[in-house]
Amino acid sequence: MVVDLIHQDTRSWNTQIINQIFPAEIAATITSIPLGWKTSEDFFYWNRSRNGYFSVKSAYYKLQASKLAQSPSNSEVTFPWKKLWSVPMPRKIKHFPYRVAYNAVPCKANLLRRGVQVEVECQSCSNQEAESAEHMFLCCPWARAAWFSHQIGLRTDLIRDSFAAWFKQCCIDKTREELALIFQGLWAIWKARNERVFNNKAADSTVIMQRGLAVLREWEEAQDRPQVQRDELRVNIWTPPPEGLLKANVDAGWSGIPQLVLVW
Ligand SMILES: [Zn+2]
Repeated sequence: MVVDLIHQDTRSWNTQIINQIFPAEIAATITSIPLGWKTSEDFFYWNRSRNGYFSVKSAYYKLQASKLAQSPSNSEVTFPWKKLWSVPMPRKIKHFPYRVAYNAVPCKANLLRRGVQVEVECQSCSNQEAESAEHMFLCCPWARAAWFSHQIGLRTDLIRDSFAAWFKQCCIDKTREELALIFQGLWAIWKARNERVFNNKAADSTVIMQRGLAVLREWEEAQDRPQVQRDELRVNIWTPPPEGLLKANVDAGWSGIPQLVLVW
């Protein structure tokens, strides 16, 4: 117990016991912690939350952080998560880059990794390669053609990094506007893939990318439109008439020709 390591009368560390139990380095760390006069019972403290209590959410973040730290491509620089959220793009696809970054897009290789029995080959090409995120988004001939026709004119055959490393580097190097284009492209590839797998509908990669860009442009234009003023939306509130006068509130509507229906 921690309480046994403290002289309660002087509120100081019992260095004799601490040095007997712990290696010198840990003992030095413990004894460097200042002790207050206020005492409390020992309790288990979960150091991933502010209040010390365990929560599933904090455990999830802890696991994700260690997963990213272990990944060789992500070990050197912290992933720019905040930048991802500030990329100007439709809200409905904002979650997608996060799924890509965590390799959580349910392509066939990822499904198989999680125990789902599926035919792992890519259905967009005849290369008989596993449909991993890397193949689906960069290496598949369909995806290569899609990126080449895209506004950013990406030559994926020249990319030497793994998909994870490439994606992370893009998030670090590219501007938010460039990232919006790239994320929209990834989303368009994923949607086209789903159409092919679930509805057996094949589509031209150039058309798919153009459609994706059109959605992005439409959304951007909508952001520039002036917002409706609050005053314009304000509903008139009924006020009583001046003293001595009567106020009649009426409503009217047509219900076919030539009837007029008045409602008092
Ligand atoms: Zn393929």
